[in-house]
Amino acid sequence: MAADLLSGLNPAQRDAVSAGTGAVLVLAGPGSGKTRVLTHRIAYLIGEMGIPPRGIMAVTFTNKAAAEMRSRAESLLDGHIDGLQIGTFHSICARILRIEADHLPSGYGRDYVIYDSDDQTALMKTVVAEMRIDPKKFSPGRILNGISGAKNELITPAEYASSDYFTEIVKRAYPIYQERLRNNNALDFDDLLMMTVTMLRDDEIVRQKYQRRSEHVLIDEFQDTNTAQYKLIRLLGGYHGNLFAVGDEDQSIYAFRGADYRNVQQFRKDYPEARVILLEQNYRSTQIVLDAARSIIDKNKNRTPKQLFTDKEGGSLVTVHEAYSEGEEGEWVVERVRALMRRQGYSYRDIAVMYRINALSRTLEDAFKATGVPYRIVGGVSFYQRREIRDLVAYLRVINNPIDTISLNRIINTPTRGIGDKTVTTFHDWVAARGRGYLEALEAIANGTLIPVTGRSGKALAEFASLIIDLRKIAFPGDDTPTDLTVLFDELTARIRYVAYLPEISTTPEQVQERLENIQALRGLVSSKKDLRLDDFLADVSLNTEAEPVEESGEQIANSVTLLTLHAAKGLEYPVVFIAGVEDGLLPHSRSFADADEMAEERRLMYVGLTRARDHLFLSYAFRRSLYGESIPSIPSRFLADIPAHLTEGASLKVRHMTEREAYKEATRWDSDTPSRPAQTGRAKIFEFDSRAAASKDRAASLPTPTPGLKYKPGMHVYHPKFGTGIVVDSRRSGSDEEVSVRFEDKQFGLKRLMAEFANMRIIP
Ligand code: ATP
Ligand code: MG
Repeated sequence: MAADLLSGLNPAQRDAVSAGTGAVLVLAGPGSGKTRVLTHRIAYLIGEMGIPPRGIMAVTFTNKAAAEMRSRAESLLDGHIDGLQIGTFHSICARILRIEADHLPSGYGRDYVIYDSDDQTALMKTVVAEMRIDPKKFSPGRILNGISGAKNELITPAEYASSDYFTEIVKRAYPIYQERLRNNNALDFDDLLMMTVTMLRDDEIVRQKYQRRSEHVLIDEFQDTNTAQYKLIRLLGGYHGNLFAVGDEDQSIYAFRGADYRNVQQFRKDYPEARVILLEQNYRSTQIVLDAARSIIDKNKNRTPKQLFTDKEGGSLVTVHEAYSEGEEGEWVVERVRALMRRQGYSYRDIAVMYRINALSRTLEDAFKATGVPYRIVGGVSFYQRREIRDLVAYLRVINNPIDTISLNRIINTPTRGIGDKTVTTFHDWVAARGRGYLEALEAIANGTLIPVTGRSGKALAEFASLIIDLRKIAFPGDDTPTDLTVLFDELTARIRYVAYLPEISTTPEQVQERLENIQALRGLVSSKKDLRLDDFLADVSLNTEAEPVEESGEQIANSVTLLTLHAAKGLEYPVVFIAGVEDGLLPHSRSFADADEMAEERRLMYVGLTRARDHLFLSYAFRRSLYGESIPSIPSRFLADIPAHLTEGASLKVRHMTEREAYKEATRWDSDTPSRPAQTGRAKIFEFDSRAAASKDRAASLPTPTPGLKYKPGMHVYHPKFGTGIVVDSRRSGSDEEVSVRFEDKQFGLKRLMAEFANMRIIP
């Protein structure tokens, strides 16, 4: 057995897998087998050290990773993993809280719901309104961010200290928000963690129970834990002290959620006797990919340089591509995807397209749609955020927990049933005045013993109440007979005639169809989990919303190109990786320009992206991109310039198109509003970005000189029979012809790429 469990591992990995008890820290670069080690360790603990599966708790960051780890452990152990606890922080906490619901703060019950960010925003809006804060000045989202930050640091409303005007607002909103959540029997994501930690910390009985049970606690991606998460691990491992943490400081990319890679240092302080194991061989990528990735991360300060070598010497060069626009970028990606399949035998599922921000997924998606190349988007506007899904889930939530007023308000008049805002307010006031809760109120209204509102809307309200009460009877039959959730779902959609309502909320027949398909997908999900209790099902759904859509099945969908953000790509690997939108302002994000720490995090993000690739890396950027309505010239990412030229092919990485002087001239020529600037401010500042670093000296030094032997040179004035006069911005060889970029005086035509041979242009002397 042991030999099996240790086979396929190198000596350092074996060391880690078979380490004895106590704290172990595995620190190693991407692709060095950390996750593999962790999975084998789980199997080794059970199979070799005789630890019962239920004594093991393994935490990872995504549901997908958790599922994969479970199935690998299962196959290593021939299925003997009953009771093994593998999950994300949130799912593990949600479970503990449900089991220990009696120990929750008063007002909460086992049927609590989990509010996602939309629910949170809806709730915060009511808080903001009550506080008479101008939401334009302090948006609900911003206040929620402040509260989230506090929760990640385990700071309670009472402990929260304000330091300026904004935090003073957070300080006031925080307790009201918490009270509202409690009134709705709802927890937000951060509460799941914070409440579990508080419970384990303050409740001796609960703590002992979980501490004794958690003989071994394992955690992947340790570099991305925040204070609350780290505290949770310490608490769980507090009795046996068997903590096994694996991570890579260079891949810490969740600072915005309070992650602090300094927890790695903290771990060493907290467990001075911990064994530290380093892994140095990379099994994932080619040498070229590794070298390119290293050139990015090496620029970060205050890091421990790591040795990484691979047996996969050489490899193909990193392709860098400049597209004219975001649309062309999408087309190029799809075209490359098809070529890779045709010429190199890859399948769609071998390929991932990554981007820094979700907004970029749209144009990529368009390109995939246009050509029929199958794709799926991980994260983004996930399945669960779609209107029809939210509506139906809100119904299920109200059936489960009628005091969830955010969900109640969502559906009370959806589909339209003649219950207006005024009736809704009267209803809420009426329930509040009677002080007996929503369930009782709905029951009384349903059987006609109480009538809060008269007339037509009163009748509609009574019908709504009956609907919820009837559906509750299906969900909770009273005896211990388990309910088939599919029956509940079918009855729900039939009674509210939801399908007939779809045209009302859709603009095209295609959209109706799409929504219908989503509803069917939801039904599929319900039926795959039909034996769950309704509250467990809803917890499952809530925990999945943030990160991933339903894991689709089916041959066609399973074999598709994956589109995902760099953040979502953590821990994953693909033979072929595209990163789109490698531009200053996107990657690195413009937010990071003025902040060295954030810039370092952007580098780590780029590093994570590059190291997902096994064989091929494609990096693209657009010459112009319209992102928020306006098409503006973009600047290739400064990170591209850090990759040594001998590792790349395609677009030359000298900052392109214009020399500084040309760019300056060009920008001022057409834009009379542009105040004159000294020429040495560099190209970056001419455009929208505040890109101090981009204008740095070494960058300026890499600006191109025009290629000799070309007919057109930047700065030349030209005349085109159709587009009129313009100025050459760039020219380069393209096959046997010359590709010229011209900005035409007539703004309607703007910037154009033309082939010199066909363009029929005249140079104006
Ligand atoms: P990341 O930091 O990106 O999460 P990681 O360190 O967790 O990476 P893994 O995903 O565990 O790395 O491993 C990377 C790849 O290398 C996987 O395909 C894995 O199966 C393979 N691998 C790891 N160790 C070995 C080994 N000893 N022999 C063969 N393949 C290995
Ligand atoms: Mg990993």
